[in-house]
Amino acid sequence: ETIGAMLARIAAAHPQRPALVVREQGVRLDYAAFDAAVNRLAAGLLALGLEPGDRIGIWAPNRAEWVLMQFATARTGLILVNINPAYRTHELAYALTKVGCRALVLARRFKTSDYLGLLRELAPELDSAAPGALAAERLPALREVVVLGPGAPVPGTFDFDAIAACEDPAAHALLARTAAGLAPDDPVNIQFTSGTTGSPKGATLTHRNILNNGWFVGEAMRLTPDDRLCIPVPFYHCFGMVLGNLACVTHGACMVIPGEGFDPLATLETVAEERCTGLHGVPTMFIAELEHPRFGEFDLSSLRTGIMAGSPCPVEVMKQVVDRMHMAEVTIAYGMTETSPVSFQTTPDDPLDRRVDSVGRVHPHVEVRIVDGEGKVVPRGETGELQTRGYSVMRGYWNDPERTAEALDAEGWMHTGDLATLDADGYCRIVGRLKDMLIRGGENVYPREIEEFLYTHPDIADVQVFGVPDAKFGEEVCAWIRLREGAALDAEGVRAYCRGRIAHYKIPRYVRFVDAFPMTVTGKVQKYLMREAMAGERG
Ligand code: ATP
Ligand code: MG
Repeated sequence: ETIGAMLARIAAAHPQRPALVVREQGVRLDYAAFDAAVNRLAAGLLALGLEPGDRIGIWAPNRAEWVLMQFATARTGLILVNINPAYRTHELAYALTKVGCRALVLARRFKTSDYLGLLRELAPELDSAAPGALAAERLPALREVVVLGPGAPVPGTFDFDAIAACEDPAAHALLARTAAGLAPDDPVNIQFTSGTTGSPKGATLTHRNILNNGWFVGEAMRLTPDDRLCIPVPFYHCFGMVLGNLACVTHGACMVIPGEGFDPLATLETVAEERCTGLHGVPTMFIAELEHPRFGEFDLSSLRTGIMAGSPCPVEVMKQVVDRMHMAEVTIAYGMTETSPVSFQTTPDDPLDRRVDSVGRVHPHVEVRIVDGEGKVVPRGETGELQTRGYSVMRGYWNDPERTAEALDAEGWMHTGDLATLDADGYCRIVGRLKDMLIRGGENVYPREIEEFLYTHPDIADVQVFGVPDAKFGEEVCAWIRLREGAALDAEGVRAYCRGRIAHYKIPRYVRFVDAFPMTVTGKVQKYLMREAMAGERG
């Protein structure tokens, strides 16, 4: 089955069930209306002359138009290219050129970013071009530019709403013929990785990849058409578009979107007022919600489930999510963009302690192994690099055979770059990133373990540990700490707390107190930037 056919099947089965709520825009669509809107947009895109296999970028925050684009492109065979809302001209040019985007759908602006202005900087030819006939020196592949959201018409571009209202019978007939020719193994999406460890890579994913992954994620959450899932995580990332949107649609559940960007207050309000049964987030989002001064005002008793993923989930945070946010069935997932993304997930059947100390067991139809530096499978319980294989593994990085060959071997194993262990019952623990592990004086040090320990200090709200180069020991332990309001802990206090409780070589030599960590828009902490900052500071 393709994604377009799946949506048609669900809409026919549950036409009157709610499909999409976008609070900030006042959008409320049931499945029949959602499916019809997707059809009009799909026909409108084909009427522009776009063809299956063409790449079409979307550069916009979490809006209804994003969700419609996700399903409309899937129905037409266009390959949707997710563009990170935080990108600026340099990254935009890189992404559009790397995958040869023929069309780009963009919002006028988001927060402080003037997307149209940024595009004009790259393509000043836009103002004098006829719509659909852009020929910009720096973006040679780009022809069609489509602008979404309220505002005056923009020269050289098409208006999203006009395209999305396409009723032309010829275009709809073309859509029916085009949709009938699509196959599950056609590429449907290029998703860029978060850029946590360096420059983002564009993973090419098929219908089979992400449709099935969305289904299995929803199964582990036990979603039904009665569920309403609050999705404050960004759509441009697999967390929003697969674990959020596709998990919902494959199960006929409702996608509930608070608004364009993540805001803890708007998220709490949405859950309470929309009676959401599920809530997604990376750990830092749950922390922001739990710590919000108005947290206590909201009735979150409708919550049952949700996914915490994307980065290590501190045990303390997990316990609070269960106790204070009523998410007794909260699941932890582990995955990566390149594997559609989820490979491991806990289920409500797993005992709570397994759900706090592991990422669960392997997903159906995914093979895993843990290997040492030489590529040999390690004995059960030992740490090594996690590798996965199966339906969920990407085709490759678009137009990047070198990085594809580094990540995907000839036998189809995806080298995740993550360190993990598997216990006798098949539960997996993520120990950290291969790149983050540090070796201090010959001892392997896993930053995650030190972070978990430091979280137990009552003054510490959030902490990140990483290695910095050291002349004597090779590497030394460095901790960046965000304190709770009013706390007065100093570096010596931190070390004193560690002494006698953790091994001496794990005690942070360097401690810095910060208000925030450098982060990707998906809310992931970029340790490589922190490492660079320390290098600059220590000369
Ligand atoms: P890049 O590949 O560009 O450096 P990234 O790896 O962060 O960025 P994503 O594909 O968004 O890009 O994230 C996948 C990674 O996130 C995994 O490889 C893993 O390191 C981390 N991760 C995901 N889920 C978990 C989890 N539950 N616990 C710990 N780490 C996780
Ligand atoms: Mg990665």
